[in-house]
Amino acid sequence: MLDIHWIREHAEEVQLVADQKKINVSVRELLDWDERKRQLLRETEALRAANHEASRSVRLLLEQGKDEEARGITHQVKQLKLTLADKEAELQHAEQQFQGLMLLMPNRVSEDTPVGRSDADNVEIKRAGTVPAFEYGGRDHVSLGEMHDILDMARGVKVAGTRSYVLKGAGVTLHRAVQQLALDELMKRGYTPLEVPLMVRRDALQHTGFFPLGQDQIYELEKEKRWLVGTSEVPLISCFSGEILDLKEPMRLAAATTCFRSEVGSAGKDVRGLYRVHQFAKVEQVILCQNDAELSEQLLQELTQNAEHILELLELPYRVMAVCTGDMSQKTYKQYDIETWMPSRQAYGETHSSSLLLDFQARRAHIRYWNADGKPVYCHTLNNTAVATPRILIPLLENHQQEDGSIRIPEALRPYMGGAKMLAQG
Ligand code: AMP
Repeated sequence: MLDIHWIREHAEEVQLVADQKKINVSVRELLDWDERKRQLLRETEALRAANHEASRSVRLLLEQGKDEEARGITHQVKQLKLTLADKEAELQHAEQQFQGLMLLMPNRVSEDTPVGRSDADNVEIKRAGTVPAFEYGGRDHVSLGEMHDILDMARGVKVAGTRSYVLKGAGVTLHRAVQQLALDELMKRGYTPLEVPLMVRRDALQHTGFFPLGQDQIYELEKEKRWLVGTSEVPLISCFSGEILDLKEPMRLAAATTCFRSEVGSAGKDVRGLYRVHQFAKVEQVILCQNDAELSEQLLQELTQNAEHILELLELPYRVMAVCTGDMSQKTYKQYDIETWMPSRQAYGETHSSSLLLDFQARRAHIRYWNADGKPVYCHTLNNTAVATPRILIPLLENHQQEDGSIRIPEALRPYMGGAKMLAQG
């Protein structure tokens, strides 16, 4: 959520960013409702004062025994009350229109964000690791998974429909190993792990900027009036809604949770294997910090480097992309995606998304901290994936495969895999 004072002074800039982010909203319409609401508020207050004054006169006249005169004014009071009720209804309608539009306004974007229409316009800023060449062609993760009897796509689909999977045996161990490795790395770096609710109230999603835009990506539990989160960013941030925090030091948090996504709009895209599924696990990093542009920029680099470090431990080639305006969500101010090399695609595929949101979520969720002058100020929030699985199993299985079909386990994962150095058949 942006500050309305700021929007009034930067209307053209906000409209430009909305257009760049492909959000269908009119800032002019917002400002018209803003003006209308303020006008109605002035009129309502004037009517309330007149009503109060007239009621007081009636009381005084009655006390003085001037019943006839009091009756005359009573009629006036009745009329005033009716007019006031109409005005209040109009004001309430204007408030609702205004608030509805405010929820659609985009966050600003940083000056160094590339301008572009889609992910094709994202800009590569770093490449690390060596892309393997398989003279024998190489197998994709589905073939490798079936070969080792660790992945069963058909049974996943039988149970739950498309974009579902079953992991088995060492597949489950690998899936859990990458999560525990990521969580341990974050804890070493001062991140506090939280176990959080995954069925949340509407507020939690609205506070974090996943509602109303993005609502179609989220599964609703209709009878419960709860929604299944697509990322633990939602509960990690919403835990602190309405609070005034002590943020002398940034608050570094982590959670390892299941995530659910409807993937509406992805029909026909990434249909083979584990790339785009409805249910997956993600270790998420979240930071809440003071409203200081230099500090939050440093923390964005920290979140990104944490993810890079985990990919290095997994011995996977990756690249870092500066995400362009057209590929950014409403809430994002600056974003890096990390893409990991996926041999079966002969391309890098997105595995991590690192975002700085400034005070956009904090304003919606009303999360503040005491600044040096003892005033409550909205904080900044940031988030990034530490690891998301089973998508990361694609590069993990495919990059580390050997010609005989066995799969080398990167050294850092071995303690989480009972010391195994290889996944071999049978
Ligand atoms: P996001 O929270 O949308 O930035 O996504 C973070 C990461 O979660 C992505 O980079 C992927 O690694 C993973 N991810 C997101 N959506 C899916 C999905 N439908 N299936 C599998 N993994 C996903």
